[in-house]
Amino acid sequence: MSSQAFYSQRGKHEVLREYFGFNSFRPNQELVIDTLNRGGNVLAVMPTGSGKSLCYQIPALMNAGLTVVVSPLIALMRDQVSALKMAGACAETVNSSIEPSARRGVWDRLNNGSLKILYLSPEYLMTDMVLDALDKQDLTLIAVDEAHCISQWGPAFRPDYAELAKLHKRYPETPILATTATADEVTRTDILKRLFSGNAVVHVQGFDRPNIKLSAAPKDGSNRQLLKFLESHQDNTGIVYCLTRKKTETVSDFLQSQGYRTLTYHAGMDSEARDQNQGIFMTEPAVVMVATNAFGMGIDKSDIRFVLHADMPGSIESYYQEIGRAGRDGRFSEAHILFGLDDIRMRRMFIEQEGSDQDRERREYQRLNAFIGYCETPTCRRRALLAYFGEQMDGCENCDNCLFPVKLEDGTEYARMALSAIVRTRQRYGAMHIADVLMGKQTKKVLTACHDKIPTFGVGKDLPEQEWRAVLRQLVSSGFLTQNISGFGELQVTETGKSLLRGIGLFKYRKPAKSSRQSKTQREKRLLTENSLSSDDLLLLGRLKELRLRLAKEKQVPAFVIFHDKSLEIMAQKRPKTRVEFSRINGVGAAKLQAYADVFLAEIEQY
Ligand code: ADP
Ligand code: ZN
Repeated sequence: MSSQAFYSQRGKHEVLREYFGFNSFRPNQELVIDTLNRGGNVLAVMPTGSGKSLCYQIPALMNAGLTVVVSPLIALMRDQVSALKMAGACAETVNSSIEPSARRGVWDRLNNGSLKILYLSPEYLMTDMVLDALDKQDLTLIAVDEAHCISQWGPAFRPDYAELAKLHKRYPETPILATTATADEVTRTDILKRLFSGNAVVHVQGFDRPNIKLSAAPKDGSNRQLLKFLESHQDNTGIVYCLTRKKTETVSDFLQSQGYRTLTYHAGMDSEARDQNQGIFMTEPAVVMVATNAFGMGIDKSDIRFVLHADMPGSIESYYQEIGRAGRDGRFSEAHILFGLDDIRMRRMFIEQEGSDQDRERREYQRLNAFIGYCETPTCRRRALLAYFGEQMDGCENCDNCLFPVKLEDGTEYARMALSAIVRTRQRYGAMHIADVLMGKQTKKVLTACHDKIPTFGVGKDLPEQEWRAVLRQLVSSGFLTQNISGFGELQVTETGKSLLRGIGLFKYRKPAKSSRQSKTQREKRLLTENSLSSDDLLLLGRLKELRLRLAKEKQVPAFVIFHDKSLEIMAQKRPKTRVEFSRINGVGAAKLQAYADVFLAEIEQY
């Protein structure tokens, strides 16, 4: 059935104000909404936290008819639906986990025309039964969230998304919106082709998140490095990402023994335990979540102050998405990553084990290499990150390399020593052993293999172990060496490595930094004090958060569904006395004014 999108019933500002309590749109939201309302298709690539949901929720509530939203995660859909209901909008989700009787209720509301927004998983939507039911509806809009999942080139291809390619043929009159936070050029082109046959407007919004300080350091006694980093985040909420489930447990235990309040989250836990931990993380202060990459999709918590990667992620896309959870309130936040040769080896193994076709495998390697490049870069990290997404920038001043510029050293001599030691030990050893040989250590392994007899034994005595590790790692990242991943990560000399040995070419490297954390920079200080609340405000804020938590538990919804942190902060600062004043707070729409003004006003008054 054709869409009536041209005939908007209500103004977009009116809807924004009434349901969401916001006074203005963010620039790209308005662009996307206007295009959809004119009947056009849109691919919107916008960072996490930029407000993609409103891009389809506003047209859905402005226009007659039904909006269908496709999203990959049931928990995420549930939260969105609770939030919409709380805002006074008629939204539902149907999926396999819902009781048949409840499902019938939803279909009834669908058929009597009262339902405005329906969230569906892709596999459920694409069943004949659901499509037949939708054929009879006046479909205003179809929104596909996490649209990169449709692309084989994307970092998270899902076969059930591939089916969505049939939608635009089946509903040619209905505008489609695809949203994603991570899609490089190739992925974008692929989404366009599959979902729209190329016929869509593309909006790409700046990827820069200037309030997040970026830094990276090679692993060097990781526990000590973790503590060092957390020292400046004593009372903060943050996430520590680990590669394996087991490691989340050990890191969490370790941090607990050091007095931090930690929780874990990984796919091996049962869903009840996961939900519980996520709930605590969302609502209580100063919790450190130690998690695998299973944690985080759809986490809408504005005051996450740091994201620390204790191990390396597999691509810049995943990294960007993971660190994007920090600092959504715009205040100073940090993203720090610890990386090492072992990580690289593990990541390569993952790619091998996946057994994908060659094209995909090649791309995964390229992604990984780009990420290794990011870790090792001696220049601005922000510029490197943005360049990857096809964006240019200047004036960062908020990454380790800009704040403390790196000097590159000529390491050609050291490189030749290392390459020669590797050749002489027949390319059968990993970095640890090679470093031992170079430094002239008489370990058991060195002695049994008679490596104390080769000419390179001990030629590198003047360089400390940490520095040899840096040289070897950077020889890998700049392509002079490779790690044999089908074996045990033995270092092997590449063609350019052989040339370097023969005297052709140069090797520059960055010396590992003396790891002392400098005092806060001007910018950090400014960002820390900006919009800060007085200690009195903070006390009130604490009480408002407790009230919110009570209400959330009562209603069995996540706390942000009641009010976002930002709204509570404004309440604590402005201390509204009347309903009218309360209604002016950002995030207070008509339904929430009705439901919560009295309790919150009473709490403020009492204070
Ligand atoms: P994304 O899906 O892009 O990660 P969300 O849609 O979850 O982002 O929005 C992120 C946050 O920004 C939410 O808390 C949302 O309420 C808030 N937000 C979105 N649009 C606006 C706006 N126009 N004014 C104020 N806050 C907004
Ligand atoms: Zn920089």
